[in-house]
Amino acid sequence: MLPLPVLEKAASELVCYGNSGMSVMEMSHRSPEYEAIINDAESMLRRLMNIPDNYKVLFLQGGASTQFAAVPLNLINRTESKKGLYAVSGQFSGKAFKEAVKLGYNAECIATTKDDNFDHVPVITPDMVDQSASYLHICFNNTIYGTKFDYIPETGNVPLVADMSSCIISEPVDVTKFGVIYAGAQKNMAPAGLTIVIVREDLLGYAEEKMPTMLDWKVMADNGSMYNTPPCYTIYMAKLVYEWILSIGGLEAMKKMNEKKAALLYGYLDSQNYYIAPVKPSSRSMMNVTFVTGNSDLDKKFASEASAAGLKNLKGHRSVGGMRASIYNAMPYEGVEALVGFMKKFAEENPKA
Ligand SMILES: *Cc1c(COP(=O)(O)O)cnc(C)c1O
Repeated sequence: MLPLPVLEKAASELVCYGNSGMSVMEMSHRSPEYEAIINDAESMLRRLMNIPDNYKVLFLQGGASTQFAAVPLNLINRTESKKGLYAVSGQFSGKAFKEAVKLGYNAECIATTKDDNFDHVPVITPDMVDQSASYLHICFNNTIYGTKFDYIPETGNVPLVADMSSCIISEPVDVTKFGVIYAGAQKNMAPAGLTIVIVREDLLGYAEEKMPTMLDWKVMADNGSMYNTPPCYTIYMAKLVYEWILSIGGLEAMKKMNEKKAALLYGYLDSQNYYIAPVKPSSRSMMNVTFVTGNSDLDKKFASEASAAGLKNLKGHRSVGGMRASIYNAMPYEGVEALVGFMKKFAEENPKA
């Protein structure tokens, strides 16, 4: 979802932005009007996430999936070991790991919860982090399984790289604990088409000689994300979303709202035994809440009847089945109340044999 005030503001400016005489969609990315938009987007995101000055903020294309390749391509040469460490806590972190292997790099999986069906995040202790490695990659919130790191791994001098696609700007996070944070914008920030990379300056400049220019964070940083045409309209939408969050009190306020929504849903799940929440409580995601009935036909019935009742997109990811309620920033508390109401009714109407 996108916040309704954001969609309304975008609608009001769709045809003509300010006094520009044109839509943001029609602007040159080098025009003064557009430069103000991208500069505002960056400064608002910096304010929102409290991003220190020694980090660059990049507005890129290609989705988080492109960063699965960009991470090793930009960082592997940081050390002589040319080794990348990975924690595999779900599907996307698994894809990131495989991408590094595919590119022929020395990638090592140091922790995984695969044998437990990814029902919790792995424990990563400092002694597990080879200090000669170029980086450690984690996925902070595992969208498909509904888990989230409830701690930030201590990595010593090894930069921590985190895919935060499905939890970015849902709550405050200490950026200084990370070397790189990246996120596809379409879960919590904007429509699809934009990828955010937040990278500490000292990690720039290690790119391979044959590096594709478009994947080189340093080139993008040196050009203010405008080496080529950026996803202009999506950046504008992201700016409106940042503005909206700042107007309601920033990430502290956002966190309180998200906690309240998640508490309502998990509270209900814990209070009954019709639905099963497979994730261990300590790893529960505040954004993606997964549950099953234990009967795949009932799960299917649930998703289709929920959809007919106006509760959309509750079917679990095609790889895991069951149900998943993605309660991102823009989902109002009332939306979760409606879901819990539906869940109670469905359980009454569909007793298990
Ligand atoms: C959705 C998602 C991705 C994939 O993002 P794209 O922008 O579609 O490439 C990667 N990682 C996580 C954690 C996600 O939630």
